[in-house]
Amino acid sequence: MEKTILEINNISKSFGSYKAIDNVTFKLQKGDIYGLIGSNGAGKTTIMRLITQLSPLKVGRIKLFDKKINQQALRHIGAVIETPASFDKLTVQQNLKLIALQRGINDTKRISEVVEFVGLQEKLTTKAKNLSLGQRQRLGLGIAILPDPDLLILDEPINGLDPSGIIEFRKLLEKLNQEKQVTILISSHILTELYQVSTKFGFIYKGQLIKEITKSDLDKANQSGLILTVTDVAKAAQVIDTNFNDKFSVLDEQRILVHSLNIDSSKLNEKLIRNGVSVISLAKEEKSLEDYYTKLIGGAEND
Ligand code: ATP
Repeated sequence: MEKTILEINNISKSFGSYKAIDNVTFKLQKGDIYGLIGSNGAGKTTIMRLITQLSPLKVGRIKLFDKKINQQALRHIGAVIETPASFDKLTVQQNLKLIALQRGINDTKRISEVVEFVGLQEKLTTKAKNLSLGQRQRLGLGIAILPDPDLLILDEPINGLDPSGIIEFRKLLEKLNQEKQVTILISSHILTELYQVSTKFGFIYKGQLIKEITKSDLDKANQSGLILTVTDVAKAAQVIDTNFNDKFSVLDEQRILVHSLNIDSSKLNEKLIRNGVSVISLAKEEKSLEDYYTKLIGGAEND
């Protein structure tokens, strides 16, 4: 059975007369990597600040492990939100020691474990202010995971990372998620990356959660696959049906969409030709999270 880790119920937040968060409800199940998507000022950071009590919640409820969130419950959350989590003048090791002290972690091995996990072994004695941006992000992640949290909240964690840094960061998150079953709430404007890492998405628009979708439903909605343009669509459909297990849809009198990017296209081409169907073109149709987002937000703006 799915276990709910975080439950956000009808939360709202206003700054003066400005409603930054408007009646938002969503859940994170154990093992989810939930990607929060929205334009600048949509409300993503505010939601994360409300969860972690950096901003007081006055309207709505937030529960962690089915209990109202409080200081005790916050111990199960590791977060990197906005500002760097580290102290500039302290070294990597000192920063981690300080957090260990604050969190009552006596196990010295835990610090080495975390340092190794985030790949900062060679920077132990470097002051945080002298770390590169990517190394600083890693230190932030190290600080967040030091207490072994069940839930990790990361606001724009890959901002400013170079391409290989992004890939490594993704691998770290996947490792935490798969090996330690850490549930993750993450925001990013780099949608290609967020798509790769997340299992579910929540779209925030002007303080409201306008859509939630799992990755597999997103793929279906995006109709990714192979588009075949052929001379005889009926015959082609018959050939695909008898020779392949993949689902397909006839789009019009010339085109068929095979709902799979893994189909062996040369074999498909060969079968069609052998059955007398001329293939005019074969093209991969890969709509992205970005396409979905643009359409969704475009729709919301026209409402
Ligand atoms: P970005 O992608 O740019 O980081 P975001 O989705 O994280 O944006 P938030 O930082 O949550 O957006 O801000 C949501 C809205 O709330 C913005 O319009 C912002 O100006 C406003 N806001 C946030 N904090 C405060 C505050 N302390 N006082 C006044 N307005 C605030």
